[in-house]
Amino acid sequence: MNRCITIAGGGLAGLALGVALRERGVPVTLHEAGSYPRHRVCGEFLSGVSDETLERLGIARDLDDAVPLKSSCWRNDSRQLGEIGVSGRGISRRNLDDRLQKRFTRLGGNLMTESRLRSGEGVVWAAGRVRQSSPWIGLKCHVRDLKLTHDLEMHVGTSGYAGLARIEGGRVNLCGLFHAGSASGKGVGLLLGCLKAGGLHRLAKRIEEAVPDPESFCGVAGFRFGRTASASFSIGDAALMIPPFTGNGMSMALEAADQAIQPAMDYAAGRISWVEAATQSDAAQQRHFRRRMRLASMIHPVMTSRPGLKLLEMAASAHLLPYGALYRLLR
Ligand SMILES: Cc1cc2nc3c(=O)[nH]c(=O)nc-3n(C[C@H](O)[C@H](O)[C@H](O)COP(=O)(O)OP(=O)(O)OC[C@H]3O[C@@H](n4cnc5c(N)ncnc54)[C@H](O)[C@@H]3O)c2cc1C
Repeated sequence: MNRCITIAGGGLAGLALGVALRERGVPVTLHEAGSYPRHRVCGEFLSGVSDETLERLGIARDLDDAVPLKSSCWRNDSRQLGEIGVSGRGISRRNLDDRLQKRFTRLGGNLMTESRLRSGEGVVWAAGRVRQSSPWIGLKCHVRDLKLTHDLEMHVGTSGYAGLARIEGGRVNLCGLFHAGSASGKGVGLLLGCLKAGGLHRLAKRIEEAVPDPESFCGVAGFRFGRTASASFSIGDAALMIPPFTGNGMSMALEAADQAIQPAMDYAAGRISWVEAATQSDAAQQRHFRRRMRLASMIHPVMTSRPGLKLLEMAASAHLLPYGALYRLLR
């Protein structure tokens, strides 16, 4: 392996690819704009990625203490709309990303934190969402002493939605996607304000009565969903960003890293050019993710508009919502 692979972005996609390449003896330098450990806006519900993929990436052990999530429900503020069995893991991104960066450096990877790279030839672009103006903000915080009815609760409001997922240490992660400008405030207060502005008063009350952790609060703004391919060899949110209600973005980041292993190795060994490696990785992702991206982009507007939500509620009342089938098709 002569050529070094450079990766921009030390989130799940970049770190997983970095670990997998180091396991195979490829020299890797990874630049991360931030540092570790740190909280990230994410529902922290990992679902869809297979055990085989995690083994191939060499990161299965890093999920050993993730909480198995098996039951889930969908609800608005007044009632439950449906429930299904799921197969997922709950784990905080603060822990997961930190473990992956440690694994990467233990394997001899060269990690440069607080280092922001530009895209270019020879750089795998795993730098996350493409920043652009959008009507959405994502907010999250961890909560203690909060009882859940299911391992994963999804709450649909009139100006966004929020999920509660069990994570390690007996905590619950609260994360939501809201219309920007629906509420004002700071920190956990802003998150509670967004829940109330979207009519999720009961959920907000439950959070107020529990113990939200202000340290874990974080937020993001300025992203859009769909194909974002910002550089020739992109993986994770930098290539394709699926709406969060699917709970599949982390899985996609890991699956994309898995698909990038071979093209990156072939480039490192001098068997193919950078353009060929990028083309192969991109084609594999388009094939692999097409169905879920299309379906998610059709459902997202329904879930985030008042008429769409009314329709959803009526369909749920008439038991016409195929939750189980949708869950499977979005993976
Ligand atoms: C509100 C919300 C809820 C979500 N809930 C879930 C969920 O429950 N389940 C799920 O599976 N997914 C969920 N997701 C999606 C999931 O968080 C992402 O799909 C996943 O984090 C993508 O990983 P990534 O590695 O591509 O990007 P990221 O995790 O965003 O990592 C990108 C990294 O690149 C770094 N970076 C940026 N620019 C540069 C640069 N120029 N040079 C170097 N480094 C750079 C950043 O600092 C960052 O660390 C949610 C997303 C949102 C917004």
